[in-house]
Amino acid sequence: MKIQDIQTIQELLSTPKKIAIIPHRSPDGDAMGSTLGLYHFLLKNNQYPVVISPNEFPDFLAWMPGSETVKVFEKDKKKCTNLLEEAELIFTLDFNALHRVGEMEKVLEKLVVPFVMIDHHQSPDDYAAVTYSDTNFGSTCEMLYHFIAALGKTADIDKTIGTCIYTGILTDSGSFRFPKTTGTTHRIIADLIDLGVENSEIPALLYDNSSYDRLQLLGRALQNMKILMEHKTTYTTLTQQELDHFNYIKGDTEGIVNYGLSIKGIVFTAIFIENAEEKIIKISLRSQGDFDVNLFAREHFNGGGHRNAAGGKSEASMEETVMKFENLVSKLKT
Ligand code: 5GP
Ligand code: MN
Repeated sequence: MKIQDIQTIQELLSTPKKIAIIPHRSPDGDAMGSTLGLYHFLLKNNQYPVVISPNEFPDFLAWMPGSETVKVFEKDKKKCTNLLEEAELIFTLDFNALHRVGEMEKVLEKLVVPFVMIDHHQSPDDYAAVTYSDTNFGSTCEMLYHFIAALGKTADIDKTIGTCIYTGILTDSGSFRFPKTTGTTHRIIADLIDLGVENSEIPALLYDNSSYDRLQLLGRALQNMKILMEHKTTYTTLTQQELDHFNYIKGDTEGIVNYGLSIKGIVFTAIFIENAEEKIIKISLRSQGDFDVNLFAREHFNGGGHRNAAGGKSEASMEETVMKFENLVSKLKT
């Protein structure tokens, strides 16, 4: 972090303030981990923080400390709008473009108080007074650890804050496998374990907490998988009908996309998930190596993300969306 930014933050936090902390829409482990980690840190520092999520967070994160205090904009627009309008400082975590909060964007755009962005995605927009953005980090949670350290407050990181940070590092690194996992990442993890963070229990809460329906849904997605061997690509689909059949709840499709890369020789994979209510096909993209799915998502599917993990959406039908994808892949040099 730049010295000047650290000073700005220290200045902003020198008096108690009402602070809104915002993750991206459909928050994942890193978005929830970083917002809740910051929430507990700010509480400890005599602030009045509140986490406001644009929409509901998945059930499999409901065990996280402080999740019961999270306000959900889509569930209570009036109250959340009031909280946002009253806030004297806004943190936006794990995203870097205001459209990632969906409908809440309209409220945020009108606010005149300072914004602080902490994020690890490419090409940040220019809306924050302090932009702590670095694509070298595998997670926003790892950045939060450095952020707290830069404020000279490492000693504030306790088991609760550590649990939140651990969760985001774990989930965004694919359990410490993805290429941005460094020695420093592991040293932070080691420190968190020394603070009492339950490094065996947290992965179990996240990954061994499935329902029978969810596993059957995974089975269906695996059955639906197509392989385009010539282009080292796989993809799969889940229609709304299939989701309904397996009593889909939010979070059930988390991680399914990764299976597409587990086949030998595959470097690019996608999952297309129908959302009848929003009338879109939600797309998740993953790659291994140099193929840049962030660019692919930006150019073709109104999305973005990172080089090896990105997402987007399509307003066309499932058939048309898949056809467009196959067409694009046939022109790729993967
Ligand atoms: P996922 O596939 O797990 O939903 O997302 C993978 C990555 O892509 C995440 O870092 C996420 O923030 C980003 N991402 C997912 N969907 C979108 C989208 O619609 N727009 C943008 N800009 N980024 C997305
Ligand atoms: Mn993240």
